[in-house]
Parts: sequence; C-alpha cells; structure tokens
Amino acid sequence: MSEEKNNVKRIAVMGSTGSIGTQTLDVIRANPDVFSAEVLCAGNNADVLIQQALEFTPNAVVIANEKHYKKVKDELFSKGIKVYAGEDSLKQIVEMETVDCVLAAIVGYAGLSSTLNAIEHKKPIALANKETLVVAGEIITEAARKNSVNLYPVDSEHSAIFQCLAGEWENPIEKIYLTASGGPFRGKSREFMQTVKKEQALKHPNWSMGAKITIDSATMMNKGLEIIEAKWLFHLNREQIEVIVHPQSIIHSIVQFRDASMKAQMGLPDMKLPIQYALSYPQRIRSDFPRFDFINYPSLTFEKPDTSAFPSLTLAYHCLEKGGNLPCAMNAANEIAVNAFLNDKISFTQIVEVAEKIVSTIPFLPKPSLNDLIETDTASRVKTKELTG
Ligand code: NAD
Ligand code: MG
Repeated sequence: MSEEKNNVKRIAVMGSTGSIGTQTLDVIRANPDVFSAEVLCAGNNADVLIQQALEFTPNAVVIANEKHYKKVKDELFSKGIKVYAGEDSLKQIVEMETVDCVLAAIVGYAGLSSTLNAIEHKKPIALANKETLVVAGEIITEAARKNSVNLYPVDSEHSAIFQCLAGEWENPIEKIYLTASGGPFRGKSREFMQTVKKEQALKHPNWSMGAKITIDSATMMNKGLEIIEAKWLFHLNREQIEVIVHPQSIIHSIVQFRDASMKAQMGLPDMKLPIQYALSYPQRIRSDFPRFDFINYPSLTFEKPDTSAFPSLTLAYHCLEKGGNLPCAMNAANEIAVNAFLNDKISFTQIVEVAEKIVSTIPFLPKPSLNDLIETDTASRVKTKELTG
C-alpha cells in the first residue's frame, strides 16, 4: 500500500444505485486520492450494482433482495469481490473493519438498521436517509452521543445549517430557516392538486432525485420530514424551526444567532456538493461543479408556505412537537401512501390525508423503545395498506 493510499477514506455506500448513491460515486470517482468505495449496497438493482462493482472494485457488495444473489455472485466473485445478500448482511456489512465512513442513502425506513448498527460500531455517518432521524431521532442521536460518532448531514438544507455553524460551536442557534423550493405545485390550490397525475408530481423544478423524495417534495412532506430531521441534528424545538419557500433553490438554509446576525449557505442546486462536504469535512475539496452566476439570477425570492394547500407541514409540526412514536407513524403511512399514489391506487391529496388519519389513530407512546418503533412502523403500514387498497 502506498503512502497516499493510507489516507484514502474508505466508504460504505448504502443505496449506491440510487440518486444520492450514484452522485456519491461521482464524487469518489473524481477524487480517487481521497475516497474509495469499500462497500456497495443496493435493494433490487443487480445490474447497476454489478456495473458499479466492476468499476470501483469494492471489498464487498450487498444486494438486499436475495433473489438476485446468484446473478451478482456469478459476475463478481471471480473478481475477488465478496458478495452478500439479504437484510441481515445489509445491517452487518457496515461493521467491517476497513470501512471508515458510512454514507447512508437507502431510501425510507429500510435505512434505519444499518445506520444504527454503524453508529454502534463507531463509524462516522454521512446521513442522506432523513427517515432514520424522523423514525428514531432520539435513539439515533443518543447512540451517536454514547459512541462519540458524528452525523454529517447530506440533506442540502441540513448541510447548509452545518456549514453556517462552522466556527460557531459556542454560539447557540436562535432559529433556523429551512428553505423549500415549493415543488411542482407551488402556488396551486388543494382543488387543483386533487386531480394531478404522477407524471406531473414527478417533475421537480430544481432537483433530479429518487421517486419517493420527489413525491415528498410535491406534497411538501419532504420539508415536514426535514423539520424533524433538523430538530434532532441541531437540538432545536418547534419555535426555532421555520420553513420559508425559496423557489430558486440557491439559498440552501439560514441560521439566525442571538445577536440578530444571520448566516446563509448558497450555491447552485447540486447534491454532489453536500455529499462531498459530508465526506471531506472539515476540509473543502476543489471541485469542478458549475459556479453560481448572479447575472443568471437577478432575483432571489421568498414566500410563506401555504399550509392550507400543503397540510403535510402542519401534520409534521404536530408530530415534531408531540414526538414519541408519532413521527414514526407519519413516516410509515407516508411511505405506503406514496407507493399507493405511484401505483394509481389513491389520489395525490389522499397521500397526506391518509398520513393524518394514521397519526390521529395510532396509540401514542411518549417514550418508545426501538421495539415499540418497529411495532408502530409495522402497524402503521398495515393500516395504511387497508386504507389505500
Ligand atoms: P433512490 O430511490 O434514488 O435510491 C434509493 C437507494 O436505496 C437505491 O440504491 C435502492 O437500491 C436502495 N434501497 C431501496 N430499498 C432498499 C432496501 N429495502 N434495502 C436496501 N436498499 C434499498 O433514493 P434517493 O433519492 O437517492 O434518496 C435516498 C435517501 O436520501 C432518501 O432518504 C432521501 O430522502 C435522501 N435524500 C435524497 C436527496 C436527493 O437529491 N435524491 C436529497 C436529500 C436527501
Ligand atoms: Mg433536502
């Protein structure tokens, strides 16, 4: 092993075939002296996983769906790459001694167990999977504290807050403003949204992302998940977290301090930047990402979110305040309802209606254990499936 090789950060890319996963591999590819892909994991997409493994020659790969095990093994085993399958392998692979950092980019609740296990094995986390903090924020942050593990936010708004906090560790946050693009239905009424089709909802104005988060952005549930993510990452209460619609997605979020000073982080919308910062922190690495040009953006604008058109925000604030197992129930209902919408089973506006119903009927547990949360998740999924056919 050469001298430089010793300084290479070896990353387990959880969800490598997704939008964040592939952009993470772009960052690794562009910085071979700084990063390497030690582990690649995917849910179902065996073909892309194989291609990625042939290019990045990781130590190991995991395909969650065991049905694809043989295919992946046949392609990669002879190349000296270890191949595993199934949920247990997914959870355990992060323990590998050669993993220096875990990039958590599996979508939804499915990302929880590997992230928690990585924290318990003292691996630093670059966290894209916001659902993990929504479901089990208290357990995750407590485990991180106990194990002295840092959680580096990848979500662009939370990365912005984190970047604004550099050098401010002694200064309490008075308040944060999470910016939201408003999604494809900004300015539209609830009536209009009742009849929108998935093709319309899947067209995000500023970001190209996985299907689930794209629908979440259209309902603004994504911002609802993000206020809860922010609560846990930065130890904030409800009054300290405000959402402001900023359609150009140039200012990625803002911190306000007690002397009334505000710091904002800005740049063109490109997830590679927060991904790279989470992996390289505290360093900034030179990049060839396109630079912002003021002349192309003569005005940056801001609006109050329309909570009657987007009730997801009200629901999420309610769950944030009450805490306990409610955010977990909201998240599970939302995952199932988004899926039902994508399969033409329910209308767009029913997604949040269903989540409201589940949150208002699930038995409330103020201080749930991990098992309680697993049960809440399962029960909420079963009930949501009944409601959505
Ligand atoms: P995606 O759908 O494009 O990719 C999801 C990845 O997770 C894929 O690699 C898939 O194979 C894997 N996966 C899905 N189910 C799995 C399972 N049961 N077991 C193992 N692997 C599984 O999603 P994405 O847009 O990349 O988002 C990933 C996460 O990052 C989400 O939590 C999302 O909220 C968050 N995030 C995404 C963006 C973005 O720009 N895409 C921005 C901020 C935060
Ligand atoms: Mg975000």
